Amino acid sequence: MKYVNLSSKELIAIEDQYGAHNYHPLPVVLDRGEGAFVWDVEGKKYFDFLSAYSAVNQGHSHPRIINKLVEQAKKLTLTSRAFYNSELGKYEKFLSELFGFDKVLPMNTGAEAVETAIKIARKWGYEKKGIPAGEAKIVVCSGNFHGRTTTIISFSNDDDARKNFNPYTSGFITVEYNDVESLRTAIEKDKETICGFLVEPIQGEAGVYVPDEGYLTACFEICKANNVLFIADEIQTGIARTGKMLAVDHENLKPDMLILGKAVSGGAYPVSAVLTDNEVMNVIKPGQHGSTYGGNPLACAVATEALQVVIDEELAEKAENLGKIFRAEIEKMIPEFSFLKSVRGKGLLNAVLINDTPESSTAWDLCVELMKNGLLAKPTHGNIIRFAPPLVISESDLKEAIEVLKRTFMKFKK
Ligand SMILES: *Cc1c(COP(=O)(O)O)cnc(C)c1O
Repeated sequence: MKYVNLSSKELIAIEDQYGAHNYHPLPVVLDRGEGAFVWDVEGKKYFDFLSAYSAVNQGHSHPRIINKLVEQAKKLTLTSRAFYNSELGKYEKFLSELFGFDKVLPMNTGAEAVETAIKIARKWGYEKKGIPAGEAKIVVCSGNFHGRTTTIISFSNDDDARKNFNPYTSGFITVEYNDVESLRTAIEKDKETICGFLVEPIQGEAGVYVPDEGYLTACFEICKANNVLFIADEIQTGIARTGKMLAVDHENLKPDMLILGKAVSGGAYPVSAVLTDNEVMNVIKPGQHGSTYGGNPLACAVATEALQVVIDEELAEKAENLGKIFRAEIEKMIPEFSFLKSVRGKGLLNAVLINDTPESSTAWDLCVELMKNGLLAKPTHGNIIRFAPPLVISESDLKEAIEVLKRTFMKFKK
């Protein structure tokens, strides 16, 4: 078999045969990307309204990021942390100053960064807060998504993510998301043994669930009053996606620990990080945590450039403005199309709720139609469609994409 010029159909068949079926992709095979657009192997062009779950905020193959990737790849890619490398310190200083923390712990994927935050919080709990041995607890929220490791899925309440992967890691308490009293009750009950509260400022995977204004601040105050670390998972909401550099910036909040991933590298390389201040980070001593690839010079160079692009191109302001346009246009369409229920979101992290059950195929069918018409988006939880284009999308391209939505809805109505 020669692997040249295979059609989408053939490529899908190979994946189907040789790859684990751990995803349910739309039947489109992407081959190339530029800015807000991707092309399939047959050369058809699409608006990318997923942005690899908000990892590609800076747009596909951003020339500055790719140039930096190639330049650094030619020089040095991996040393391990057995030695210092000439990129890591500069990157750590840049990241710390950008987000206002003392220190960074660099990792690769989002789930690893969440695991790192859990480990740091527990260790801080024992060594600084004085929690009795083995009793540290972390409060999490219903509907959370923090990744796929055994510990993380232990505190998921999504049956697909959890079932038959037990035994589970203990030490987690679930409270209702967007319910301050639920958190207050849980923390007051176990305040001596709770070390952290892990929360997504907006729940992305749950379907872009935006909590009430003031929710995060109220939670933060409860944490402060009880010596509990407020840990923000901004892997999906961070890096300008919601109209500010971080989603917590909407409430002018500085978490005790910040978890970043996805768009930190603009989709060019897996890069994640945990940021916190010395009082917390210094509980980690040599040999107690690490990763072979974490903090490698290629990751550091790429991430620095990718974040600089976000600043230079004012992507947070762009996301804020374009998000308002997007939601206003969808709002106008809702009365016209009975299968649309509502639109919600912040910046360019938005979702349209479909007027049907989570078990129905309406959202999926709509996404297949959108694909045929040149726009890629994916349903989440059955009846919610997330719309999250790269933040570099131009206003005119966004308006054209909205026309594609309208055309598809018109056809779908019949
Ligand atoms: C994607 C995501 C993760 C996991 O990141 P991976 O890189 O897929 O491991 C964790 N938390 C949130 C909020 C995410 O959106």
